[in-house]
Parts: sequence; structure tokens; C-alpha cells
Amino acid sequence: MRYLMKFGGTSVADAQCIRRVVDILEHHHRAGDELAVVVSAQRGVTDQLIEVASALPTAKDSSAIKPLIQALSTRHMTTLEGAAPDFIAEVGAEIEERLISLENILFAIYNLRELTPRSRDHVISFGERLLAPIVGAALRQRGIGSTVLDGCEAGILTTPQHGESTALPESDDRIKRRIGPLLKKEIPVIMGFMGCSKDGILTTLGRSGSDYSASILGAGIDADEIWIWTDVDGIMTCDPRVINDARVMNSLSYLEVMELSYFGAKVMHPRSIEPAMRKNILVRVKNTFNPSHPGTVIVRNGQPDHRVVKALTYIDKVGAININGAQMIGRPGVAKAIFTILADHEVNVMMISQGSSEANISLIVDEAHISTAVKALSDLVKQGVVREVSHNHEVCAVAVVGAGMAGAPGTGGRIFTALGTAGVNVMMISQGSSEANISFVVSQDDGPRAVRVLHDEFRLSEESNE
Ligand code: ADP
Ligand code: ASP
Ligand code: MG
Repeated sequence: MRYLMKFGGTSVADAQCIRRVVDILEHHHRAGDELAVVVSAQRGVTDQLIEVASALPTAKDSSAIKPLIQALSTRHMTTLEGAAPDFIAEVGAEIEERLISLENILFAIYNLRELTPRSRDHVISFGERLLAPIVGAALRQRGIGSTVLDGCEAGILTTPQHGESTALPESDDRIKRRIGPLLKKEIPVIMGFMGCSKDGILTTLGRSGSDYSASILGAGIDADEIWIWTDVDGIMTCDPRVINDARVMNSLSYLEVMELSYFGAKVMHPRSIEPAMRKNILVRVKNTFNPSHPGTVIVRNGQPDHRVVKALTYIDKVGAININGAQMIGRPGVAKAIFTILADHEVNVMMISQGSSEANISLIVDEAHISTAVKALSDLVKQGVVREVSHNHEVCAVAVVGAGMAGAPGTGGRIFTALGTAGVNVMMISQGSSEANISFVVSQDDGPRAVRVLHDEFRLSEESNE
């Protein structure tokens, strides 16, 4: 079998974790499987890089830089010592060299008082740059050959959009040419989260982007399966930090996972299903700390399941925008004007709802895009296309997901009756045309209660005959 295996930040958090990762890889390697590996940064490192880099342009001094470099050095050298003791000199020198480069870039950001999207991408890729050589060395420590590549070297070509780039179709052939030949003799280790644009400039794929790297690379090498190794037994009926009796699901469809991740289920990056789906590759989510658990299998159709609703998610980092004006009634082109202006400003609209009177359109957008969106839309107020634009940060979007909802009348009624009985006020409703998702908006305070009510209503913590 040919596998692409991705290990997330908790799975590589320290030397002991990396030894566990190498146990898993060695087991498959000795059994004759072909393997390529994607690794994230160690848990928390990307956050640290973002925090320090973002503060530098307005910081009163540069005193945050040295402690960060020191902390990263200590953490990675300790990990290296425990995971690959024979490679301390060789890989240690590489780590120190990278840290010098990072330190220079951070001082440049401070001195220039400017953090461009391009330099930000460069800085935040260092978590993966520092960690991947250690995993490669840990494999060599066990006598398994391993070349370490960054995303660009591995063949991932992306759009030039910094911070949220998308893989280009040309990546497939490049990955095949670059990684394919390595699989016969060794286990290549690839830095997740990054690729490069056509002119060779580093780009990142968005937070949690190593999942997306895994899928792009798995599609590129025509893997039989893509395994996402994480710190829970699989994809659960709801975020286990919100619902303590959330249950691991055996099987989901690509579509169901796309709906869940799009609406904030942190277990997978939202775009990470698409490359696997294109090549019909089975994706499995598994726990590094409990490898004998079968995990969750993600395939085109999932297993038949009598359950109509399978999982819930909610995202509170969103805002609602309301656009009002009687002049919108019966006037063609208003919606076009709204969505064109938002697209021009790269605002991603998550949900849309229009009242039947046509005098109101409500939108849900990512919290980070609210001020851009409101500013852009105020141009339409000036032009008299709409009367007023208002916004509300204190909302969250809840998604109820299950492919069985298509053709199961009454699910919506059950959802909103349960919420009504519990006194949860629903501010906006939307159902995708896929019918695998009914999503709605409630106040931020009501979010956790809404998912609790629905988790109970659909008895999601009970085993079904999945
Ligand atoms: P990794 O570092 O392996 O990428 P993440 O922290 O990004 O791991 O994602 C795994 C975490 O996602 C879990 O520890 C869990 O707390 C959270 N999570 C949120 N929603 C779900 C869900 N529906 N199923 C499983 N885990 C979820
Ligand atoms: N290290 C990156 C992040 O924290 C990518 C990833 O972990 O998947 O977002
Ligand atoms: Mg993740």
C-alpha cells in the first residue's frame, strides 16, 4: 500500500511523541508499505511566531525577539537530543542556522516597522522548517533513509495569495516527479502548511494548512490512503471540548467532512478534502496516542447510516452583516453589486439569507473580514443602492450535518422545535443545496447551548448501527 501520513502539532510536540511517530512509520515501512510524511510545527510554535511577528511593527522595542529565538532553540534542541541523538551535530547546526535567519528577519520587521503578507508567510513557516529535519533524523536514527523537503521542493505550487493560498493543478505532476522516485527507497518528510507561487515565493495554506498539504501531496503521489494523525480517536459528533460525551464516528462522506470543517470543526482544514476527493482517495483520521483504534474513514459515500443528523459544529469567529433598504425591492442587480464588491475585497461570505420582501439581505462573514466588508459596502450606501449597512460581532454560526438529511422531511422542524423549546433564539437560517447541512445563526452566548440541545435531541452520543 502507498500512504501519505500527516502528523499534527500535538503528535510531534516533544521527543517522546516523535519516537511514537517513528514507531508507527517503522511498522508500516517494515511491512513493505510505501510512505510519504507531512509534519506540522510543534504544538504552539506557529501561534508564538504569529504573536511576536504581528506585534513588532508597533512594538516600542525589539525585546520580544531574543526570548522567542531562545525558547525555539531550547525546545527543538531538546527534541532533537531525545529523538535523534546521533544527529545532534548535523541537524543541530541546521536548526541554529535557521534560527539565525529567523532572528534576522524579525529584526528587519522591527526596524522597517512593516510586516507584509509575504514576510509574514515567511516567518510563520519556521515552525515546520525547524521541526521537519528532526523527524527526518529520527527516521535515519532507526536506519530508515529520509530526505526532508519544504512544500515548494515537494512540488506544491499555489496561487500567490499569502496566508490563504490554494494549490494549482500543476502541483500534481511536479509532486509525482519529485516524491514518486523517493518512495521506493526511503520515507520523505515534507514540511506542511506551505508551498510556493509560480515565481518561487513562499506561500502558506491557511491555519491548520498541513492537513491540506497532506491531501495535495496524497493526490500527487496517487496514495492508496491519506492518514491524518492527530490527538483524538477520529472525527467526533461535536467538538469534544464543547460536548463532553461527543462520540467518534466510524465513517463520513467527503461532503459531510467538508461541511463540518467549513463551519469550524477544527479537526480538519476546510480545503483538505478536495484534492483527495478529486482522486477518490480514502482519508482516515487516527490518534497517534491510540494507534490501534480504527479512527474515522472518509470516503465518497460514507457507510449507510440510519441517522439523518450525524454531527454538529459551531463557529464563533464570525459576524453578521445586515443590508437594508426599500430601494432594493424589485431592483435587479443589487445582489450582484453586493457580492461583486465583497469579492473584490476578498471577503469570504459563509452564509446568505434574503427576506422575501427583498428589503433585507443578511450575510455571515469571517470575523477577520467584518470591517473590510462593512467599509466596502458603505460605498453602496453612498451610491444610494442600499440604505443602511449594520453589523453584529456577537453571533455564532451552528451547522447540523448529515448526508441523510437530503430527502428526510421534518429534520428542519425537529431542529428548530428543539431550539425553540430550549429558548434559543435563531437569528438566521440557511440550508445548502447539497442538503447535507442546515446552518443557523444564534447569539454568541447561545452557541454552546444550541449544540448541546441538538446533540441530545438527535442522540448523537449513542452508538448507532453505523
Ligand atoms: P493537529 O495538531 O493534529 O492538527 P488540531 O488541534 O488541529 O490537531 O485538531 C484536533 C483537535 O480538534 C482535537 O483535539 C479536538 O479538540 C478538536 N476538534 C474540534 N472539533 C472536533 C470534532 N468534531 N472531532 C474531533 N476533534 C475535534
Ligand atoms: N503549523 C500550522 C498552524 O499551526 C499548520 C498546521 O498545524 O497544520 O496553523
Ligand atoms: Mg490541525
